[in-house]
Amino acid sequence: MASSLDIERLLSERVKEIETSGIRRAWSLAQACEDPVNLSIGQPDFPVHDAIKQAAIDAILEDKNGYTQTAGDAALLASIHLRLHGQYGWDFSGDSHLQAMVTSGTAGALTLACLTVLGPGDEIIIPDPYFVIYPTLARIAEAKAVLCDTYPDFRMTAERIERCITDKTKAVLLNSPANPTGVVLNAQEVADIVTLCKDRNILLITDEIYDEFVFPPTEHSSPAVTSDDVLVIRGYGKTYGCTGWRMGYAAGPKPLIDAMLKLKQQTFVCAPSVLQHALVQAYEIDLAPLIARFAKRRDMVVDILGDVTELVVPDGAFYAFPKIPAGHNMTGLEFISKAVEEDVLVIQGDVFSKHDTHFRISYAVPEDKLEHGLRTLRKLLS
Ligand code: PMP
Repeated sequence: MASSLDIERLLSERVKEIETSGIRRAWSLAQACEDPVNLSIGQPDFPVHDAIKQAAIDAILEDKNGYTQTAGDAALLASIHLRLHGQYGWDFSGDSHLQAMVTSGTAGALTLACLTVLGPGDEIIIPDPYFVIYPTLARIAEAKAVLCDTYPDFRMTAERIERCITDKTKAVLLNSPANPTGVVLNAQEVADIVTLCKDRNILLITDEIYDEFVFPPTEHSSPAVTSDDVLVIRGYGKTYGCTGWRMGYAAGPKPLIDAMLKLKQQTFVCAPSVLQHALVQAYEIDLAPLIARFAKRRDMVVDILGDVTELVVPDGAFYAFPKIPAGHNMTGLEFISKAVEEDVLVIQGDVFSKHDTHFRISYAVPEDKLEHGLRTLRKLLS
């Protein structure tokens, strides 16, 4: 039965403006498939490590179900401090000017960061292509997302960022390794961005959700290497195969984290308590075999599609963003419709971009399915 309320009148302009049509179109096409090769989902295909599962079970059995501190459970925070100290020498002891907080997913940290820093009239520079929620986060903060066009090599360099800066710019949002391209910036590129942002008094927010998914010999370069005046945002979901647990964290200058905590206290309150306990030992797990497996899948993508598309070789995350060859004269949506007819799901580029020339593949799927899906795409692209 339809609602008797005029819901349309009740909706805020904020929510009406949120653009979901691109993804909806992709999903509605997918309804036609019976047993698709699904290369559209951005989540890992491996189970949670037994040690983490056991820690979650123990936490439940030990009745660790209450609220935690807003900033997070002390043991999990200590493991985050240790991690950032080991990686970048960040010091959280005593009267350090740094602080960390546990968040409800990486998206929770990004939401708090944007609402804390941005307001009406402010601008945040984001990459194009971008992770889908970035423009929305700017919009809900009533700010403007300024797109930094990174085509055709998808490198968000200081030079490209500088062209987007105005006197309204408050933040730059960096995502390396990147969704949807898999591009990983090198140490010099990242250091140049740090310098640019410092010189212009702009907050650098670094979304490092894929920091562990980097394929040797490439290494992950974080702005945290050269600066502790950046906001580092990370997640557990992709790395440990628990996207639905909604766990992440943010770390950076204390006054900024304090402001984010004020907002968190009156919105999310705290991240799920049991799952905070579950992840205390996460950083002790050896991820090397897993990363080697993802590197092989990346190689498979490049081997099968590399000579029929323009493909920037991804060095990280688990995505590739090939171009639809110009000779095919197809929009992204037209291409993915053809792929759906062959039972392969990918996502058209305009979901992530103002351009509609590419499509995204997620290769976080078992090798046999991946190979079948890639060979089908190859046929369509040849
Ligand atoms: N940032 C990027 C670049 C992502 O790809 C995603 C998830 N796809 C997120 C943030 C959100 O992650 P989470 O599920 O931890 O909120």
